[in-house]
Amino acid sequence: MPILARPLSERKRDGGPLSSGEWRRLMADYAAGDVPDYQMAALAMAICFRGLDREETRALTDAMLRSGATLALEHLGKPRLDKHSTGGVGDKVSLVLAPLIASLGVAVPMMSGRGLGHTGGTLDKLEAIPGFRTGLSLAEATRQLESLGCALIGQTGEIAPADRKLYALRDATGTVESIPLIAASIMSKKLAEGLTGLVLDVKVGSGAFLPEPERGLELARTMIDLGSDHGCPVVALLTAMDRPLGRACGNAVEVEESIMALRGEGPPDLMRVTYALGAEMLWLAGVVRDRDEARRRMEVAISSGRAAEQFQRIIEAQGGDPRVVDDPGVMPEAPECEVFAAPRGGVVAEVRPREIGHGIIALGGGRTRVDDVIDPAVGFVITARPGDVVKAGQPLATIYARDAAGVVAGQAALASAIVIADEAPPPLPLIVYRVTEAGVEEYDDG
Ligand code: URA
Repeated sequence: MPILARPLSERKRDGGPLSSGEWRRLMADYAAGDVPDYQMAALAMAICFRGLDREETRALTDAMLRSGATLALEHLGKPRLDKHSTGGVGDKVSLVLAPLIASLGVAVPMMSGRGLGHTGGTLDKLEAIPGFRTGLSLAEATRQLESLGCALIGQTGEIAPADRKLYALRDATGTVESIPLIAASIMSKKLAEGLTGLVLDVKVGSGAFLPEPERGLELARTMIDLGSDHGCPVVALLTAMDRPLGRACGNAVEVEESIMALRGEGPPDLMRVTYALGAEMLWLAGVVRDRDEARRRMEVAISSGRAAEQFQRIIEAQGGDPRVVDDPGVMPEAPECEVFAAPRGGVVAEVRPREIGHGIIALGGGRTRVDDVIDPAVGFVITARPGDVVKAGQPLATIYARDAAGVVAGQAALASAIVIADEAPPPLPLIVYRVTEAGVEEYDDG
């Protein structure tokens, strides 16, 4: 007989705990369709108000993890690392990092998501490459990890199905923004990958889901605790999302910028965040002594062309057109392309990620409903950075649109995103904190 969900949500509403057995049965029954969504929504809302302590967060994570299958990868005989970002605009780090780290002998079973709210998603970006399949089964992903050491996949129906259902429900019921729910959701999927270590990029700033650094730190600590409770060491970097990362924001344009990064021609902020996260992955994998050695090895992988070749092999294995690495022109191109010019002279005070993200959606490059089909060709390339001194009429960005209406929408989005003033407040440091089980330190990469 299925568990009775109503007394559990009443108990949580009144601030009481659920036992690990109750979490286990509830999530198994929910995944099986035996708990109605309205009862689960009531419980999710109670959690938003009452929170979960460490033991309950662990039990919920475990219950969602065990609602599905897991990757068994011990036979690979090498360290298995992934990186997860809490979501941003222009954040194409996964596309660069996965082939880069795999080219250095570390297995990277990378499971990513689609765009959510104003943020972009790695799966949508990869699917801008003609033919690229992100929907590999676990058996296919395992075979690819055996042959290439890397697979770029989405959450299949096999992985944490209870989280998949609960996440969609939270999205529809205003219950996403709860630290234990976010942490349990992310970690149930990551722990299903059979990792030996995980690096988190927790975004903070106006374009992040949790903008305040204190909340970002709490999320990081909660996920680090969940990792250590499950024998998976986790390191988190808190990085700035008060402006987009890199210049390209969209799908095909971000793939193109990622390929440039793999060729050593990426924008400085993208390279710095990529190297910082990559160094943590290599360190957790136990294949380098320190950050300097990690950095040197990544630079050689890029300058020798090894990292770009690895990306090409992954693309080919997943059905994509491998020529994209030499010629990004094989991806769909937007018919309209127009410059956005500075409306006045002054200093660029802000380049607001939320407005850019909503602008991409207005161009057709993101979704407002789960079943929307996205246009991979549209987006922005924004060269203006906070702190730049600009003259009236100076080009600040390029809009890629599918028609004249898209150009108008793009101009409007950039006009509200790029703020020019007489002076600029200092932006957040690009990498704010490094968080490990041992505690929090300010980040200094020299
Ligand atoms: N990403 C997830 O996978 N889950 C959340 O709850 C939030 C972001």
